[in-house]
Amino acid sequence: MQQEKIPTIIIVGAGLGGLSLYHALIKNKDKKEFNVKIFERESCPTDRWQGYHIGLSNYGAQSLLNCIPSSIALNLPKAMPNSIPDIEIHGITITDQIGNVLLTPPTKPFKDVYELAKISRGLSSMITYRDRLRDVLLEDVPVQWNKKCIKYVEIQGGVWVFFEDGSQEYCNILVGADGINSPIRKQKLPELQIFDYGITHVGADVSVPKLLMDKINKIHGNILACKTLGTKGDSTFMMTRLIPIKQEQNDEKNEPHYRATLVYSYPSEFDNIDVESDKVKVDDNDPASVIEHVKRLIRTLRPDCELTDLLLELWDLAPKTIPNDPIKFPFKTYNPVQRRMMRDIDPMSIKSWTSSRVVLLGDAAHAMSPILGLGANNAIQDADKLSQALLKYTDNTISFIGEYEKEMLKRTSADVLRSRTVTFKISMPVGPFGVFIRDNILKFMNVMINIYSFADNLIFKN
Ligand SMILES: Cc1cc2nc3c(=O)[nH]c(=O)nc-3n(C[C@H](O)[C@H](O)[C@H](O)COP(=O)(O)OP(=O)(O)OC[C@H]3O[C@@H](n4cnc5c(N)ncnc54)[C@H](O)[C@@H]3O)c2cc1C
Repeated sequence: MQQEKIPTIIIVGAGLGGLSLYHALIKNKDKKEFNVKIFERESCPTDRWQGYHIGLSNYGAQSLLNCIPSSIALNLPKAMPNSIPDIEIHGITITDQIGNVLLTPPTKPFKDVYELAKISRGLSSMITYRDRLRDVLLEDVPVQWNKKCIKYVEIQGGVWVFFEDGSQEYCNILVGADGINSPIRKQKLPELQIFDYGITHVGADVSVPKLLMDKINKIHGNILACKTLGTKGDSTFMMTRLIPIKQEQNDEKNEPHYRATLVYSYPSEFDNIDVESDKVKVDDNDPASVIEHVKRLIRTLRPDCELTDLLLELWDLAPKTIPNDPIKFPFKTYNPVQRRMMRDIDPMSIKSWTSSRVVLLGDAAHAMSPILGLGANNAIQDADKLSQALLKYTDNTISFIGEYEKEMLKRTSADVLRSRTVTFKISMPVGPFGVFIRDNILKFMNVMINIYSFADNLIFKN
């Protein structure tokens, strides 16, 4: 009797989305077996900065737990430690340029990722160490490193995938989980364009001493994600965990430090005009010059006040040199503090998608502004949904891919556009009257959201 051939799936990209899909396909092996291969252009796990914190939402957490086996789930606390009761509040607060709180949506308390995943209404998020989440997801995954995909060729019943090193691989389904600049998307849907916001953002991971963190928390009240709105279209964002980290430097005071992610966003025109007479040339390969640029903008665009001083102090903590440790960072691409353009991809901005054996997932299909913290969550949800769709795989039809794409396009296009709208709203320069209107709208929204949430809790008790 002839044995049925096990179909091969190739995943290109070992980011959060690609790795989640890998685990889900292996986890579902008893229901449908695939030969799964995963290729990554980076040369090893520490090749590139994987730093910043992300907020894993209740929807992302549900999908993540669906995708990964229990052996991997056991390690999740490394990436998302349980909340410290009465100290850490997983939520977001928005303040004006001098630190007056404008909006703090109420949050549902949860102890760990399992409780988070059970929250079925509204949006709750847990601040998660993105780099450690990737490390956890890399466990037991035979990633083939140093494999940059450059193109594919579809043939009857399958796809040939070509790599920069001259090698090629055959598969039945190719999944492009290769991020915003995906060569697979560019080939599959050349008309699907990246949308540029005209907004620059700079991100940095810093280690914040307790004394400084205490001053910041006086403004934000221990809420782990906080945004401050300027009046010139600029805004700051900080995500942190109040769990002391092991100190790498010698700290004479033996003061606890906390890991935090800072983001400063501003209209890109400020990259081109002199904001101060002593303008220094900004070189994205020189983190010190980028940090100096950020501080100069903050000093120029923000009022003299305690919040501005704290922001400057925070940015002073950002690493000013590119680490040159050949063991920890053997490759040259480790340079987090660079200016980046805010961009997105609305997957429904083109007339139609033609389903084929080449499927997209995550940022490759729908990169979005980080403002609402939805990008990784959608990538992980895609992995969950695609793995479910692949259970219906047969050699003769690919209609299951159309079903996956229909749901993915609807869900993610809405989030891309929502994130875009909010980004533009908060990036609008405002005069004194505009500030008054903006602040009062946000305060009004704060009251309404709190009333709604109170009523919702009374009715649904979850
Ligand atoms: C500052 C900032 C804050 C954010 N905060 C949040 C948040 O709070 N919550 C949230 O949900 N999301 C957040 N995001 C977004 C989130 O990080 C991304 O949406 C998510 O990482 C996308 O996952 P992915 O697997 O689709 O792509 P990626 O993580 O980009 O992974 C793609 C992988 O493909 C590899 N690759 C690329 N090209 C090739 C090739 N040709 N061949 C082989 N491999 C290739 C890359 O090296 C990479 O490893 C944030 C993003 C930023 C920039």
